[in-house]
Amino acid sequence: MKVTIIGRGIAGSSLYFMFKEAGYNVRVIESGFRKFYPTLIHSVLLKGKDIELAIESKNFYEKHKIPLVYYPSYTIGHIDSKIIDEWISYGFNISEKFVDWLSSYTIIGEKTDALVGVRKLIDAVPYIEGKAEIRNGRVFVDEKEIDSDIIVLSSGAWNRYNIDFKLPVKSYYCWAWVTVNSNPLLDKVFVYDYEIGYYSRPLFGLGMKINIIGDGDTIVTDPFTKQFGNLSPVERAKKRLGDLKPVYRGEGYCEGTPDMRPIYGRISDNLYIIGGLNGYGAEVGPGLARLLFNLITKGEEEKEYLIDRFPPMSDFELGREPHEL
Ligand SMILES: Cc1cc2nc3c(=O)[nH]c(=O)nc-3n(C[C@H](O)[C@H](O)[C@H](O)COP(=O)(O)OP(=O)(O)OC[C@H]3O[C@@H](n4cnc5c(N)ncnc54)[C@H](O)[C@@H]3O)c2cc1C
Repeated sequence: MKVTIIGRGIAGSSLYFMFKEAGYNVRVIESGFRKFYPTLIHSVLLKGKDIELAIESKNFYEKHKIPLVYYPSYTIGHIDSKIIDEWISYGFNISEKFVDWLSSYTIIGEKTDALVGVRKLIDAVPYIEGKAEIRNGRVFVDEKEIDSDIIVLSSGAWNRYNIDFKLPVKSYYCWAWVTVNSNPLLDKVFVYDYEIGYYSRPLFGLGMKINIIGDGDTIVTDPFTKQFGNLSPVERAKKRLGDLKPVYRGEGYCEGTPDMRPIYGRISDNLYIIGGLNGYGAEVGPGLARLLFNLITKGEEEKEYLIDRFPPMSDFELGREPHEL
């Protein structure tokens, strides 16, 4: 069976390993549109079934020796007691305390939040360089057809531009700032501050006076148009974290769906999609890839994430990113 995967991102790379290990003949096509930073956040402190996808993703990273480096997480702001009960039911190590240096009560997570070395995963996947296009359920690269028994569209924010089929997705720009600070602790913790509206994560995780600040803001755009994210997350974060000097803007494009949850499923005969991973693809991407693998190889369905949940629609507004509680 020849499997063609379009896009060597988090979803496509995870699927590559799943199919390869099951003995399929897999090819990944990658255009080079996306730049990957070495690490992204992986957290299990999500909601509902997303937690299961995050746990499955963690297991996948561990199995494939993708580094997961844990740091404590501090969550500030009102979190629904049902969400906290759910975290407790999974046995996550969380506690609530007043933290002096944050001047706030926080939920502290231990071994719940990590930096995951996604670039190591992606760099391990061999690929054919080129811009793939799907027309009438067939894949073309530079007008040459790639003979395939199974086709998976996993090209993130570019999905809707690579296929002659209307998908319930929109692409958007998001960004985060590397900042120099006066508190070396910030390079060794995660802060999710829902009161003020920003997050802070380690950059190197070595206790240097440098960290990354972002928020859930999005700018709806095609992924070919350059955007310039503003400094508002840094300005807000200063109110809690003190002086922060922005030195570099990390940025890129993501994909969202009408309910801001991921999609996977069958588009037509042998053509499948995985996407809508918006700002949490490192958290739930490999877990969602496992669902698609199980659908293709065993016919198993997890209705909550199936693309079929959306009727044909003309337009929609993007909501808040799902890792914002
Ligand atoms: C600045 C930034 C910070 C982020 N931080 C986090 C974080 O900390 N934690 C987290 O979980 N998530 C984070 N995300 C979100 C995460 O990166 C995405 O959810 C995830 O990468 C989506 O996975 P994907 O496989 O669907 O798409 P991508 O990982 O974007 O991969 C799509 C791939 O398809 C390729 N492609 C596109 N078109 C074609 C074509 N025609 N032919 C061949 N290849 C093509 C692209 O070049 C790309 O390599 C962040 C995103 C950005 C932009």
